[in-house]
Amino acid sequence: MQKISSRLNLFTESVIRKMTRISDEYGAINLAQGFPDFNPPIELTEALKTVAETGPHQYEITWGAKKFREELAKKQSKFMGISIDPEKEIVVTCGSTEAMMAAMMTVCNPGDKVIVFSPFYENYAADTILCGAEPIYVPLKPPTFDFDKEELRNAFKKGVKALILCNPSNPTGKVFTKEELQYIADLAQEYDTFVITDEVYEHIVMAPYHHTYIASLPGMFERTISCSSLSKTYSITGWRLGYIISSPDIIDNARKVHDFLTVGAAAPLQAAAVAGLKLPDEYYTGLTKMYTEKRDLFLKGLDNAGLKYTKPNGAYYVMIDISEFPFLSDEDFCIWLAKEAKVAAVPGSSFFKEDVKHLIRVHFAKRNETLNEAIIRLSNIKSLVKKI
Ligand code: GLN
Repeated sequence: MQKISSRLNLFTESVIRKMTRISDEYGAINLAQGFPDFNPPIELTEALKTVAETGPHQYEITWGAKKFREELAKKQSKFMGISIDPEKEIVVTCGSTEAMMAAMMTVCNPGDKVIVFSPFYENYAADTILCGAEPIYVPLKPPTFDFDKEELRNAFKKGVKALILCNPSNPTGKVFTKEELQYIADLAQEYDTFVITDEVYEHIVMAPYHHTYIASLPGMFERTISCSSLSKTYSITGWRLGYIISSPDIIDNARKVHDFLTVGAAAPLQAAAVAGLKLPDEYYTGLTKMYTEKRDLFLKGLDNAGLKYTKPNGAYYVMIDISEFPFLSDEDFCIWLAKEAKVAAVPGSSFFKEDVKHLIRVHFAKRNETLNEAIIRLSNIKSLVKKI
């Protein structure tokens, strides 16, 4: 019997998605996979009802419905400060997961090297391996998760094709400063490297931080493949709507990859999501305010529970330090936590290249009542541990 592709031995199933299944099995509050337990804006759900009646229900243009691309171009041109052509510079994808994979397949040949900051969102390693490329890891050092400039330069010196930049960063909550991004941009230009971004948390950045799009830095639009999605911005993670924005040459090729991978994102959902793209600026300030309040509420609860963590400045994840608890690994701890305390978290080791086993990731994209209940349960873990 023939063997399946050897690439598949190089990575495991997603630990984040596995933790959702474990959470459901034990009836835990799912603070593992990052998605909200509240509804999207009413404009989107109303539009979805209308679309059910009026359609479209058939294929759209493979690289995205015209109206969707036009509204997306308007919104992103405003936020990114770059004029984006909806006809030439956008591919609409099935979530940013497909956007990242398509971006990687667009630029990488087998054997190419790709810089990945560690800790990293687990898809990047799988994406790299699936397109036959080799990840070169550069550590982001706790507690501030900064990179060492020389270490990054040394990675570029290895002759890399692309760098993956998750900003704001999942899982650390780091928001890269303009100065850090300029340093990366200078290296990318000096060493002729693409930058593939994952900016799905672009609108979840807490003051005094703010989001800088690396594509907007001088000379960077041509070499940046900006990937993002509507999932987190409009609380529609299940709609699987993402996109790539880049220069016409790159987009022309990314469209080919996307077409043969998926044909296209769901037509009715693209039509309904236009209502979200048209929301006024106040929507985005409201979103930031809501997540800032949720972060503060949640961190106060962690303080009261006596848990140690790193404060995030963006996205909606918190890394909690579990060194004080007597478990052999973060995975054992997370399974125990879901089963006994009824809170699901992601073992931190699934985000690190380095051997890190003392961190877990939780998220706060939940209704305040869910967060309050989760905090009560997390406050119990010290006494539950004593009973082991
Ligand atoms: N990005 C979210 C997370 O890190 C959800 C990932 C996913 O499962 N698509 O939890």
